[in-house]
Amino acid sequence: MIPAQFDYVRAGSLGEAVQELAADEDAKVLAGGQSLLPLLRLRLAYPSKLVDVSRLPELTGVHDRGDHVFIGAMATHDEVMHSGVVNADCPLVALATKTVADPAVRHRGTFGGSLAHCDPAGDLPAVVLALEGVFVAGSGEGEREIPAAEFFVDYWESSLRPGEILVGVRIPKLGAGWGYHYEKFHRTAQSWAIVGVAAAVKRSNGTIEEARIGLTNMGPTPVRAHAVETALRGMQLGDQVRQACEEAAADTSPPSDLHAQPDYRRHLAKVLTHRAILNAAKSP
Ligand SMILES: Cc1cc2nc3c(=O)[nH]c(=O)nc-3n(C[C@H](O)[C@H](O)[C@H](O)COP(=O)(O)OP(=O)(O)OC[C@H]3O[C@@H](n4cnc5c(N)ncnc54)[C@H](O)[C@@H]3O)c2cc1C
Repeated sequence: MIPAQFDYVRAGSLGEAVQELAADEDAKVLAGGQSLLPLLRLRLAYPSKLVDVSRLPELTGVHDRGDHVFIGAMATHDEVMHSGVVNADCPLVALATKTVADPAVRHRGTFGGSLAHCDPAGDLPAVVLALEGVFVAGSGEGEREIPAAEFFVDYWESSLRPGEILVGVRIPKLGAGWGYHYEKFHRTAQSWAIVGVAAAVKRSNGTIEEARIGLTNMGPTPVRAHAVETALRGMQLGDQVRQACEEAAADTSPPSDLHAQPDYRRHLAKVLTHRAILNAAKSP
């Protein structure tokens, strides 16, 4: 289908971009266009104006900032998964990004676009939630920090305010002793997660000192599997881990769609959490 008519502006600076957005409440940010353009073509979205932020220097690149890695909103999936600093200091982000879509989408689609889109089946929200990332939003009033636990509000809804642009995300470096894994179940022909599990595990002498688990597509927003995280604390790696993972679907509200019913997703969450924990625990 052909999109409804809209204006197009390529912003030359972050200031210009936020001004354009503030001047028109029906304007929308355009990043890689991989999610937004299909919506326009299906006429599920009809913004009056697209503000293209793809050339803003403030939003580009991946930066080592000492205790955290700053990933610019416009960093493409391809750039992120091949980044030396991401692979060294927040490998869970690289692992999950490699599972997103296909090479063509990964060359256009962006880290920030994936997060700001708030698709419950998107892979990166659960990862950033598990790693306790901090979102940086820019507006005419300067920058605002939003903890990952407060960023995802509902299906396709973030806590960005009208006129705000996602500048990038700070991912804290967790340091030595942690292992990581992203486990995802999807149809062969499509890479969208039916359910996904992002796991970060801190090991110490054969026991789990701390575990952080983010679930993909188990509700309107990504969720932390807090019950499993608590049960795993101090546990030896062994049969008990499987038992602890039985709580993976606690406090979730998985959707029902063409691909799976909620009870099947709950089953997947338990099985995939167990796999993700074991793989994270034995990863380098
Ligand atoms: C065939 C196909 C398969 C896919 N498979 C997967 C998959 O397996 N897993 C997965 O996670 N994703 C998948 N995706 C989605 C892909 O990851 C997109 O790149 C991503 O969802 C959106 O990024 P984008 O840069 O293209 O954003 P856009 O499409 O440009 O924008 C998406 C939304 O985010 C907003 N936005 C973008 N950037 C900003 C910003 N800086 N500040 C504020 N708002 C912003 C836009 O206004 C829009 O509402 C797939 C997409 C396609 C087309």
